[in-house]
Amino acid sequence: MDERAAAKLRTIPQLQRLLEAPEAAPLVKQFSHAAVTAQLRRVLAGARTDLLEPGGPEAAPSTAELLTRVEAALAASRVPGLRRVNNATGVILHTNLGRAPLAQEAAAAAAAAAVAHGYCNVELDLETGARGLRTGIIETLLRELIGAEAAIAVNNNAAGMLLALSALAAGGEVLVSRGELVEIGGGFRIPDVIRHGGARLVEVGTTNKTRIDDYRRAITPATRVLLKVHQSNFQIVGFTETTTVPALATLAREAGLLLVDDLGSGNKLMGGPQAGLLAGRAAAIDRLRTHPMLRAVRLDKLSLAALEATLRLYHERGPSALPVLQAIGQSEAMLRDRAERLANLLGPFAAVRSTTGRAGGGALPGQKIASQGVTLGIPEQPPERLAKLLRMHRPAVVGRVLDGSLLLDMLAVADDEVPEVAAAVRLAMTA
Ligand SMILES: *Cc1c(COP(=O)(O)O)cnc(C)c1O
Repeated sequence: MDERAAAKLRTIPQLQRLLEAPEAAPLVKQFSHAAVTAQLRRVLAGARTDLLEPGGPEAAPSTAELLTRVEAALAASRVPGLRRVNNATGVILHTNLGRAPLAQEAAAAAAAAAVAHGYCNVELDLETGARGLRTGIIETLLRELIGAEAAIAVNNNAAGMLLALSALAAGGEVLVSRGELVEIGGGFRIPDVIRHGGARLVEVGTTNKTRIDDYRRAITPATRVLLKVHQSNFQIVGFTETTTVPALATLAREAGLLLVDDLGSGNKLMGGPQAGLLAGRAAAIDRLRTHPMLRAVRLDKLSLAALEATLRLYHERGPSALPVLQAIGQSEAMLRDRAERLANLLGPFAAVRSTTGRAGGGALPGQKIASQGVTLGIPEQPPERLAKLLRMHRPAVVGRVLDGSLLLDMLAVADDEVPEVAAAVRLAMTA
């Protein structure tokens, strides 16, 4: 390092000096000695990098400035990582935004399970005072809704698949169509799940065509399960053929095998909390219930409360009571009204336009929904910058950049969110 650089670096105050500075005392009190020290190290490393930068400053920032940086970073780290978002992406079941918005009843039930230090009768039968099943009510509701002999709920669909294959197919073979060997997302691949479940994958048919006879011919004494997987996030179009669930069920019955149909998870179109729901014949579900893996994949009390409330809504008021299904069923006129309300709150830089939204979540691949949105064309404000300002707003607003301007799609924005979206945009426009 040359002499000049070394001289510049000598202007950086020592860590210990900074910690002893009068300005540091309130920070230590508020954030702890350890937190301030760790953040000071980062700030000093940043100052060092700046000094060595070609054309960088001649001397390190003052003690006061360095401690101001420490304070800002520590204050920012206290903002909760998980924040509320106004979803203006036009995707109702957005995987990155927590998929299904819960019904008010479901959110309230989860909150109620968390109050009073979080005690609730998750495994206590209040009538008898004895230990009770944590998922009893949910299983009854599910069984009745689906018309199945038995049902069970676990943490998510991936967990449900792993549990089902481990309990029903370990040591044997699982037949799957080559067109259904899918990756769902986040690296969740059907062949891996089968392998981790301790079973052997047997591919049947071809990518585009699989017939019932392909399954029939592949059955051996080692076959345990016929597996059908919903093609959640892609489509095979053109010269195609797949087998129906009833045809597979008939074959499974004839051959004395089990049929597992992976429809995708309970928090997608069902519109509840993250969950994996399994329903079927009592003999099969009982094998899942007694499998040691069950404990590792069970639901916690907050999800149980939200799931029970969601299932009750289906029972009492039907699917149209669920926000997800309401959002999918919105008329273009409703969406246009909402877009116009937002545009009116924003003034001349906002324009209403038609857009194409989606259900998303890998639930209905490619299904487009005609929607309406508001584009923001603000002079000297690049759309990416505006998008970032809105993402960082609290609550965040997440839109998408389309044709060179920021688009706020109204498909997944609730009516009562319009004023706060407008407030966030007005603030960002002047930033
Ligand atoms: C989404 C999906 C999964 C994974 O569901 P998670 O609840 O995210 O674990 C598995 N299988 C299919 C067919 C899916 O669509």
